[in-house]
Order: sequence, then structure tokens, then C-alpha cells
Amino acid sequence: MIDPFGRRISYLRLSVTDRCDLRCTYCMPERMTFLPRAELLDLSELDRLAAAFIRKGVRKLRLTGGEPLVRKDVMTLVGGLSRFLASGALDELTLTTNGTRLAEHAAELARFGVRRVNVSLDSLNPETYARITRGGRLEQVVAGIDAALAAGIGVKLNAVALRGDNLDDLVGLAEWAHARGAELTMIEVMPMGPVEAERIDQHVPMSEVRHRFEQRWTLTDLARRTGGPARYVRTDEGGTIGFIAPLSRNFCADCNRVRVTCTGELYMCLGQAARADLRTPLRVSADDALLDAAIDEAIGRKPNGHEFVIRAGRRPAVERHMSVTGG
Ligand code: SAM
Repeated sequence: MIDPFGRRISYLRLSVTDRCDLRCTYCMPERMTFLPRAELLDLSELDRLAAAFIRKGVRKLRLTGGEPLVRKDVMTLVGGLSRFLASGALDELTLTTNGTRLAEHAAELARFGVRRVNVSLDSLNPETYARITRGGRLEQVVAGIDAALAAGIGVKLNAVALRGDNLDDLVGLAEWAHARGAELTMIEVMPMGPVEAERIDQHVPMSEVRHRFEQRWTLTDLARRTGGPARYVRTDEGGTIGFIAPLSRNFCADCNRVRVTCTGELYMCLGQAARADLRTPLRVSADDALLDAAIDEAIGRKPNGHEFVIRAGRRPAVERHMSVTGG
């Protein structure tokens, strides 16, 4: 799959549910409306979709949500998809999780060939964590991270920098991650979907976040590129920190990814409305010809890049919440 800008698409993020057991203040409103369950793709449809993308050249598949581990049958899906690791068709099968249920599933994920997971964790202060997540229990996530590491799964922590919330916790979070052999990636808040707070009050540019780490360590820029938006540094104690700055630095030139929601909508760019319905072609025919054609048509109009802007009183750059596409 090559898009109009010559970018090869080799990475699919597949959302398996829009539901989540947390309500992070920057992600969704407290009273979030979720989709009726009947609208979600079933397991065989999710599997067929993933298989179609893999046939077309996807080498990395990330399950996301909502919270992927709240979907009851998700481990059956992971188990089925692991055949693509065994055959060599996929290089990596992974997931992004909030970690609350990771302790239950870590050993099985490892057995299915999951080698790394991203865990979202914005603070190690139990009160701050509970406030940001609106009720999350930090100890569950820590237990999940420890279980993943014990099962031999590498962990990358993702943290969103939030003004007035977790800025004082970030150095501690990096120290904690590095002590466990984990990486930390910092993310700027993006204007996706309405939440109670003003985005402009939440947003912290990555330059400011970096400055905080520079008070603690000397940082060396790394040349490492993963095909993703993060830029990495190494601390003088050997830990790695990534920075994702969608607002202060545009990184779309290397974009290798697309996203499919749990209802089978393909989004070709995180920061644009462009999408394609894959559920209809999936459902009208057991043959994959229509599905393949719909994917090809959509890749042929992948936007050049996102246009995130945060201004006071301005509507979100995209109307959907991050929980629709899973980041
Ligand atoms: N539940 C899983 C998790 O917590 O990682 C997967 C879905 S969650 C929507 C994916 C990531 O998006 C999380 O790291 C979360 O912090 C991040 N996120 C959510 N809303 C965001 C926003 N408006 N700006 C930046 N990151 C956001």
C-alpha cells in the first residue's frame, strides 16, 4: 500500500472497542456516550480485516481502543492473530493499554507472541492518577506493568503532559520507568473531541517538558527513527525518553500508519476527518474483493498530514475523541 505522497503503509492500529474503564480528563468527558454493542465488529470480522491489511503489506499490528483489554473476547482475537507472527507475515503484534487488566493477561499475551506493550500512565502519584483518570487505581497499573515485565514483555510508558496536573511527576515517572528497563514517551495533548477543560489550559509544548528533564539529566538526541512520530533522547544514566509533539512539530512526512475503529471505519490520518467504511464491504460479501477495493480506494486518498491547532474557544481540530481510534 503506497499513498499519494509515496508513503508505504505498513502499520495498522485496530481498535477493538470504544469502551474504557477509565475516563481520563483529556481523553473524554465524564459522561461519555459509548456505541451500542451491536454496532461493533465481531471477532471474525476483526480478524478478517486484520488479515486483509496484512495481505496488503502491514507488518505491524497494534490493538487499541477504548481499552482493548476490557473487550471480553480480546484474547481469542490475539490468539488467532498470532498465526501471522508464526508464519512471518507480521513482524509485531502489540497493544496499547491503560494497564488496569494487564496483570490478568500478561502471561497469555506473552504466550501468543506479544513482545512489547505500550502502557499509558500519566502519574505515579496515586491521587493525581485517580484525578486524571477519574477513579483509576494506580496499584492495578503497577501490578500490570510488573506482570508484563515478569512475562518477558517489554514495556513502553506513554504519558500525556498536562498543565496543572502531572508536570511535577514526569521526572519521577522517567526514573521509575528506567529503573525497570522501560522507556517513557511523552505526548502533547491533542485537540480531539470535546472535553470539559479548555485544551489551551491543558496543553504543554514538548520543549517545556524536555526542559524539565534537562534539569535532572544531560540529554543526548538519538538518531533512532521508528517510522513513528517520536523523537528520542538518552539520559546520561542511559534511559531513553521519547517526545511526540503533534502541535509544536509536524511529523507526517514519515507516516506509515492507518487506523480502523471497532465499527470498521478506516481513518487515514489521526488528525483529519477522512475515512472509509469497511464494515459494509466486510458484511455484504464473504469474498474479500470488495474489502480490498475499499482499502485501496481509501489509501489512495490518505491526507498529507494533520492540522492540529489549539486556540482559545476554538472547536476541536477533529470532532471524534482519541478513544474512537485509539491514538
Ligand atoms: N486505553 C488504551 C490506553 O489507555 O492506552 C488505549 C486507548 S487511549 C485513547 C491511547 C492513548 O491516547 C493513551 O496514551 C492516551 O493517554 C492518549 N490520549 C487520549 N486522548 C488524548 C488527547 N486528546 N491527546 C493526546 N493523547 C491522548
